[in-house]
Amino acid sequence: MPRMQREKHLAVWLRMLAEGEARLARDSKRLLKAQGSSAANAYKASPSIPAVNEVIKKGEGNWQKVLMAHYAVTIKHLSDYTKEQLLGKKSKANFATRIQDFISKQGLNKSKLITETTIEKARKIINDGQSDGDSEQEIADALELGIGGSVADSRASTIARTETHNAATFAMQETSEEIQDQNSFQMTREWVAVEDDRTREAHAVADGQEVGMDEPFDVDGEELDRPGDESGSPENVINCRCTVIYHIQDSQGNETESEGDSSDDIGAGGFIGE
Ligand SMILES: [Zn+2]
Repeated sequence: MPRMQREKHLAVWLRMLAEGEARLARDSKRLLKAQGSSAANAYKASPSIPAVNEVIKKGEGNWQKVLMAHYAVTIKHLSDYTKEQLLGKKSKANFATRIQDFISKQGLNKSKLITETTIEKARKIINDGQSDGDSEQEIADALELGIGGSVADSRASTIARTETHNAATFAMQETSEEIQDQNSFQMTREWVAVEDDRTREAHAVADGQEVGMDEPFDVDGEELDRPGDESGSPENVINCRCTVIYHIQDSQGNETESEGDSSDDIGAGGFIGE
């Protein structure tokens, strides 16, 4: 049974994150720019906070669609990859109930949070503009820039990084659990940090930590179910790029030897390109 190879996994992982992030950042930027324009137009038509809120709120459904599609693609890639690594064969991602739940719940929650943040930004821009005595046109311009201007680029990147990483680590964990249950394997999982100058020290320390499938990782004194675990503190989660490799043990608890080591194939397969 193949063991997931750390270095090869990291190379695939980082490429997958970069591609997923680029895709979601592009879509997020497009949505934010559109919302900046419609907020500005709404304010010009009716210069009030509720009018602007309403038009921002209308964009929530678009966020939900974009996020759900992004989770589905990311989860499918990582799920296929995990199966190939652990079982040595390609198989279709099985969109089990928990995965469907993740996609719809996370899509709903995140689109709500993103919308709330945008509404809050708009409220502040309008209040500030009105108390400064700015004209309607000035406030409309400030809305367009404050939601869809250059600030949208960094916001889109943060959304893209967080959501891609979260879906990717979720997919690997769910798929590995499924493989363990279906094959009655004994499995462990190991925290893997990227280890470059952007890596948190605590995550570099966690690198190599191996725990049971149901056991939490101890990261800087905090229990995390996986990298990007949303129940963890933001300092331990935001912008994290860490990943996990999964190991199958034999019945004596030893790691099994690789037969046809399919890890040689990783990176060559077509599971990443979109
Ligand atoms: Zn990390």
